[in-house]
Amino acid sequence: MELSKRQEAILEIVKKEGPITGEQIAERLSLTRATLRPDMAILTMAGLLEARPRVGYYYSGKSPNRVIAEKLHRIKVGEIKSVPVVVSEHCSVYDAVVTMFIEDVGTLIVVREGGILEGVISRKDLLKITLGGQDIHKLPVGVVMTRMPNVITVGPDDSVWAAAKKLITHEVDALPVVRPVEEGDKTKELEVIGRLSKTNITRLFVELGEGN
Ligand code: ADP
Repeated sequence: MELSKRQEAILEIVKKEGPITGEQIAERLSLTRATLRPDMAILTMAGLLEARPRVGYYYSGKSPNRVIAEKLHRIKVGEIKSVPVVVSEHCSVYDAVVTMFIEDVGTLIVVREGGILEGVISRKDLLKITLGGQDIHKLPVGVVMTRMPNVITVGPDDSVWAAAKKLITHEVDALPVVRPVEEGDKTKELEVIGRLSKTNITRLFVELGEGN
């Protein structure tokens, strides 16, 4: 985060003299309280300064990077996930390709009745199978998908940071967002409730960059 000269000056004053009121900061800089208001709002929103009623401003002690990190750990997968695009494992490779085009996604999630996660299919899985010269109208996606328990998933309450880390570590483009069918379910069945892709992360990145 790039601070203006004036914002840097405010930060220095608060570091040295905080807690300090807006009025006092304005005096030190020979400016009016109204002129400073937008800067104070930015510094507070960014988490660099904290404001307490009747006490004034004080320095939060957090570096801008630490503030960003905390934000990324606070935002949950459930807040930015997309709807899942799902097919059954009996769906043909041909229909899976058509679904990818129609739904404009790069990863299909394979479920059975009740939305229970069975696997995922990526673009390259489908490309690979077309090289075999088999009849893609007859071939079910079940033979090409990555199957449970090898599917990497996230929960809606996981942080977006944890999800992004999984995307990078496992070198995949998307993760099914899941929840256990029942608490303490021994069968380890997972119900698909969403999809989190690199696009969701990139969109969040852009929004954060816009200051939203
Ligand atoms: P692409 O194949 O289009 O590059 P990915 O990098 O996402 O897309 O997929 C690479 C491989 O990883 C594929 O075989 C795919 O089935 C598998 N895969 C994709 N997503 C996951 C996931 N969430 N968990 C486990 N494997 C996955």
